[in-house]
Amino acid sequence: MKIAFIGLGNMGGPMAQNLSKAGHEVAGFDLSEEACKRLESEGLRIAGSAEDAVRGAEAVISMLPGSQHVEALYLGNGQSGLLARLPAGTLVIDSSTISAASSRKVAQAAAKLKVPCIDAPVSGGTGGAVAGTLTFMVGGSADDLERARPLLEKMGQNIFHAGDVGAGQTAKICNNMLLGILMIGTSEALALGVANGLDPKVLSEIMRRSSGGNWALEKYNPMPGVMEAAPASKSYAGGFGTDLMLKDLGLAQENAAAVRAATPLGGLARNLYATHSLAGNGALDFSSVIRLVQKPHC
Ligand code: NAD
Repeated sequence: MKIAFIGLGNMGGPMAQNLSKAGHEVAGFDLSEEACKRLESEGLRIAGSAEDAVRGAEAVISMLPGSQHVEALYLGNGQSGLLARLPAGTLVIDSSTISAASSRKVAQAAAKLKVPCIDAPVSGGTGGAVAGTLTFMVGGSADDLERARPLLEKMGQNIFHAGDVGAGQTAKICNNMLLGILMIGTSEALALGVANGLDPKVLSEIMRRSSGGNWALEKYNPMPGVMEAAPASKSYAGGFGTDLMLKDLGLAQENAAAVRAATPLGGLARNLYATHSLAGNGALDFSSVIRLVQKPHC
């Protein structure tokens, strides 16, 4: 299948590579020259623009930072966006984490052009993107999901149909609100143990196999040196940026306000990541939030 892949960052880069390795004809594009050069050196075909990438494509996949980027790409900023350039029937899969309202806005505009569009945000981190083991949470019609499934299967292991357009995004922010909270809780517990002289590796293993066990302890330990492959052991480079987590927690709070849900820990977590970001850590992986609760010498 001919696929245009827009957004070749920490997640989009390896996802596009997995499609290409599976035999699809992928044309990638990113506004960042550095990202394009890196992917090109790894063998991915790079287009000169998003418009070039979608020429002849049967499917378009986007993996962009936030709602404003996705709306600007597809709907345009005062000018016509990418949707207007797609022939009817081209499948659009947006895997970015954005507001459900933005997903619905783009899908409604697409429907007018007879372009099927689904939201398919992911979970599983950059490790999952590289390994092709992501979880997709899909919002859209069952038929459109079935068309997308062969592509999603090349990038992920679990594919869930959450409901109509926008439902994938709602599922995603519920998950990420929980992730943001549990990363802070895990950090707090580890920092407490280390302040008491415990070895973080030993404490991590004890908690991982006890009732405090969770995804951070399994795959994404926030303490440097505990897990070689985790961003914490790479000076918090790559991974899932603090500012992206802050965006997701903001989306969760907006949503909670709209439906009058009580999310006290989600609200606190948003403020803690905001404080961490304001201190200059926005580009670091979100697990660096442990620095808020760590003693300086630890
Ligand atoms: P990233 O910042 O590494 O990559 C985003 C890329 O989009 C950047 O390279 C940027 O240059 C590019 N971009 C922005 N606007 C563009 C445009 N108009 N055209 C082309 N390229 C454009 O971010 P990421 O970590 O890859 O995350 C992407 C999305 O996936 C976000 O919505 C994030 O919340 C979500 N997500 C990330 C992770 C993770 O672990 N990093 C996990 C799950 C979901």
